[in-house]
Amino acid sequence: MTPQFGQGTWNMGEDPARRSEEVHALQLGMDLGMTMIDTAEMYADGGAEEVVGEAIADRRSQVYLVSKVYPHNATRRGVVQACERSLKRLKTDYLNLYLLHWRGNVPLAETLEGFERLKRDGKIRDYGVSNFDTADMEEALALKGAVMANQVLYNLKRRGIEWDLLPWCRERGIPVMAYSPLESDRKEQQRFLAEPVLQQLAQQHSATPAQIALAWLAHQEGVVAIPKAMRPEHIRANRAALDIRLTAADLAALDKSFPPPRRATPLDML
Ligand code: NAP
Repeated sequence: MTPQFGQGTWNMGEDPARRSEEVHALQLGMDLGMTMIDTAEMYADGGAEEVVGEAIADRRSQVYLVSKVYPHNATRRGVVQACERSLKRLKTDYLNLYLLHWRGNVPLAETLEGFERLKRDGKIRDYGVSNFDTADMEEALALKGAVMANQVLYNLKRRGIEWDLLPWCRERGIPVMAYSPLESDRKEQQRFLAEPVLQQLAQQHSATPAQIALAWLAHQEGVVAIPKAMRPEHIRANRAALDIRLTAADLAALDKSFPPPRRATPLDML
């Protein structure tokens, strides 16, 4: 897979006063080549989808559009209705990828049937899941679900998926979308980006610690990170992080400070 980043939209669409800033942020990211946009019916109760709809209005065909259905809407009929509502807010007639946001109480077989119907009707091109651990993925596969991606929490501090889920997905050619690649929570992010190894590598590469964290994700085969950024300098920095080439010594230094897992752990999620 060609390394690439998408753009997240969590927390967008909450304040009408910021709408135009948000639309411009997504458009700048697309101009720079980050044409995959990740949203969800959950974000700002549909508000984020409306922002995305405005941002992509004159360039739908260039965008790889991903949205997600709430687990409680993911019944056979509910998933179709939820998708139709999302399409309306996004002002488009299809999604490239539609994900089950996390596992809820609706039997997975029902959700998959709904997804298949949406695919037959041309309302979605593909479907996938989010926050699914290996056992959930096995179950989806056993139901003959054509799951095209799994979106999970993955960054240098949260490497648990490298034990089993990530190799499992790689073996089957299922891309992993890494959410919260910089740590969502502001305080957690500050602590993370202050780590000496990130500071030191940033200096060596004339980059920022955040760019090093993103460059590391870009080095992971079969992984697409979806950073969310509003500030133009962040958006430009995120795109530029794709051009940073970490050396074997850099990667070893990162492994030392952020060790890969030594045993199976339950999937981390927000
Ligand atoms: P994130 O992208 O890791 O972090 C976002 C924060 O990092 C924002 O405050 C942003 O600031 C800042 N930032 C972005 N680029 C930066 C840079 N180069 N340098 C310094 N700071 C930078 O966290 P996230 O929003 O939680 O995750 C990304 C996306 O993943 C979400 O937006 C959403 O689409 C998806 N997601 C999915 C799930 C799920 O359950 N499937 C869960 C969480 C997130 P500014 O905005 O001010 O620029």
